[in-house]
Amino acid sequence: MPMAKKDYYQVLGVNRNASAEEIKKSYRKLAMQHHPDRNHDDPKAEERFKEASEAYSVLGNSEKRQIYDQYGAEGLRGGGGGFDAGFFSDSIFSDFGDILGDLFGFGGASAQRRRQGSDLGLEVTLTLQESFLGVEKEVAVERERNCDECDGSGSEPGHTPQACRKCGGSGSMRLSQGFFSMATTCSACRGSGKVIDHPCKKCHGHGRQREARKIKVNFPAGIDEGNRLRVSGEGEGGRLGGGPGDLYIVVRILADRQFQRHGHDLLYQLPVTFSQAALGDQVSIQTFEGVERIKIPAATQNGQILKIKNKGFHQVNRWSRGDLLVQVNVVTPRSLTRQESELFKKLRELEAARGQAQSETDPVN
Ligand SMILES: [Zn+2]
Ligand SMILES: [Zn+2]
Repeated sequence: MPMAKKDYYQVLGVNRNASAEEIKKSYRKLAMQHHPDRNHDDPKAEERFKEASEAYSVLGNSEKRQIYDQYGAEGLRGGGGGFDAGFFSDSIFSDFGDILGDLFGFGGASAQRRRQGSDLGLEVTLTLQESFLGVEKEVAVERERNCDECDGSGSEPGHTPQACRKCGGSGSMRLSQGFFSMATTCSACRGSGKVIDHPCKKCHGHGRQREARKIKVNFPAGIDEGNRLRVSGEGEGGRLGGGPGDLYIVVRILADRQFQRHGHDLLYQLPVTFSQAALGDQVSIQTFEGVERIKIPAATQNGQILKIKNKGFHQVNRWSRGDLLVQVNVVTPRSLTRQESELFKKLRELEAARGQAQSETDPVN
């Protein structure tokens, strides 16, 4: 069944002292060039692609390459590591996954690759004042990382996991559907390529443990509802030497009793009396930053907005700020003293007299 073997170095077009990098590069080039998915009209392309892949499955693996250099292709037949004379041993798929990535849909076939930890998401609620001034907060994160008893191997210290017999340690099985098929996760080892016969007592063989951590997070002044902060390296721990994922914090802002955010402006509702609105006044309000003197001009109308420049929210990563907007609410008194009542009556009379005078001078339509 096996065809007459060409020399693997010749197939890949490299010399016998080629570096691993050169071999990989050359294979990648050939694989892209001859991939059957790109050469539907050329049946020979598949043949060349197979040849290159077979050659790379050997020369791309330092152990197999050594055996091949010493004993030739015969030396590899049936010898451990899952290689056989056919083309696509599972290990080829792993090799593929590494070198071609997702390009041809082989990605993820090998679970033995180092894996970056997943990202974690978290919501943190700030008061409006905290978001206005900026705040450093301690945030509790629960995340997963390698078990420190077994360092993630899942095996009792002193033991090592054994290669899975079903998949030969590759962690993946090939589903044959024609030539280009899929690698699926081995059911016996769930893709790890290993079986643990002496499970670690601390993690029961999972190789992972949960850890609760508190990390300090700096929320910059001006941060807004729904903003997302990335804290790099604070996600789940990686596996097999892979780096940790990141932590993403989504910011929620509590409603404030006195202040509201409008874009970058800070809005404050200021209750004033009739006389303050009519005559004007000076008032002080307590803002998030301190005391602010507000000048109410004479004849201020209900709902009118007084603008105090550059006292609003900081724009994150910029120097500019929004404004403090003071909206005037003229409040009708709920109860009056006798004296106030008399003054209002007097005022009413004056208003009525003024109204009379007005209507007498107004031209009648
Ligand atoms: Zn453990
Ligand atoms: Zn397996």
